[in-house]
Amino acid sequence: MNVQPAISFDNTETAFAYKDNAALKKARFLFSSMGIGPLVKLGTKITPWAIRAGLPVKGIIRNTIFKQFVGGESLNETAEVASKLGEYGVQVILDYGVEGGDYGEEGFTRVIDYAATQPNIPFMSVKVTGIARFGLLEKLDQSVELHAGTLRQAQDGSLMKRFDKAMEALTDEERAEWQRVYNRMQHICREAAEKNIGVLIDAEESWIQDPVDVLTIKMMEQFNRTRAVVYNTLQLYRHDRLAFLKDSYEAARLRNFILGAKLVRGAYMEKERRRAEDMNYPSPIQPDKAASDRDYNLAIEFCVENIEQIAFIIASHNEYSNLYTTQLLRGKKWSLYHPHVHFSQLYGMSDNITFNLAGAGCAVSKYLPFGPIKDVIPYLMRRAQENSSVSGQTGRELALIRKEMKRRGLQ
Ligand SMILES: Cc1cc2nc3c(=O)[nH]c(=O)nc-3n(C[C@H](O)[C@H](O)[C@H](O)COP(=O)(O)OP(=O)(O)OC[C@H]3O[C@@H](n4cnc5c(N)ncnc54)[C@H](O)[C@@H]3O)c2cc1C
Repeated sequence: MNVQPAISFDNTETAFAYKDNAALKKARFLFSSMGIGPLVKLGTKITPWAIRAGLPVKGIIRNTIFKQFVGGESLNETAEVASKLGEYGVQVILDYGVEGGDYGEEGFTRVIDYAATQPNIPFMSVKVTGIARFGLLEKLDQSVELHAGTLRQAQDGSLMKRFDKAMEALTDEERAEWQRVYNRMQHICREAAEKNIGVLIDAEESWIQDPVDVLTIKMMEQFNRTRAVVYNTLQLYRHDRLAFLKDSYEAARLRNFILGAKLVRGAYMEKERRRAEDMNYPSPIQPDKAASDRDYNLAIEFCVENIEQIAFIIASHNEYSNLYTTQLLRGKKWSLYHPHVHFSQLYGMSDNITFNLAGAGCAVSKYLPFGPIKDVIPYLMRRAQENSSVSGQTGRELALIRKEMKRRGLQ
């Protein structure tokens, strides 16, 4: 009998093989600093202001947090990191790290054209807020909400129908603006389909998500006929997303396309809860971490059970969720390298998961943002906040780095 070895995420030699001693020490310094809550609080307040004010802080940022979490300031600068990851069987998802601006589709198509020339860049990510005005998305989302319940809650079409109704609330100008957003996204997805690059559409705040979902489903219907080109992102920290996954699957079945689903827990929890409280509506977020974990793992099970129709990405640093996916696949006696399964972690985090999954033969990537320092600041501030609790991710990262330093005799 062919018994496959268990996958372990404790192997720090594999995890950090790509980091030399100096890089490892730098990472330890950074994660130790991020473990100091008041420092992170101050930093996340001051840094965006300092950048706007033109203070000379870019050098410090570039050599510390930027280097840890970002591939470079330009597309070409990512080449070095991508090729290094490639040496260890790790792929790359290029993330054009601009947020909240109208950047047009040219930036994204340039990324696609570049990715197509590289051996280990199968995907790129898109934020709809990079090609659409936030206010327009917000208005559409609100209007979709208003129509909730007034139309039949059928699995297929309820969101789409509410959306069509919501369009009626727009002015002629806004409708034309939405059409331009649609055309841009179509242009990006067509280019990606032709170049054989996958497009991952990020999930952002819940109050703009409905139009993002509609746009993504429309793109999947066009481009995912025979293979997954376009992927939606589902945030399982929202209590309605497991049901939405099932609805999306029904839509895919009925309309005959492959559902692309990138599964995340979600990055905007505090902001979501605060807004819900301030504006006095029920929070869309799960009551506790255990509920997010439960729905996340149920979503994995659902995707595995329907793998013919769903191509999915486990985008997570949670060891259990990653391991559980491999166990489900092995339980089915399928290869871990299934064309509909991909794993991904953010660049600069959870190397123990990424490199050990690669070693076990999984298709796994690092999500690699790039962009001018001033544009990636919101992304960096989120990473700093996420890593600011010693009991959470920072604790895990530090413990692993220290273990590897000890193994190398560095402390
Ligand atoms: C490749 C990749 C792509 C990503 N893309 C996106 C994206 O498009 N949109 C996006 O929003 N995020 C995205 N993220 C970030 C992701 O949503 C999470 O913030 C991050 O990965 C931490 O969750 P985790 O699954 O790694 O694991 P864990 O560390 O196990 O979980 C932490 C997460 O659990 C949830 N959580 C924590 N405490 C509670 C609580 N009290 N109640 C309820 N839930 C709680 C939160 O979502 C928190 O981030 C991405 C992450 C990766 C790795």
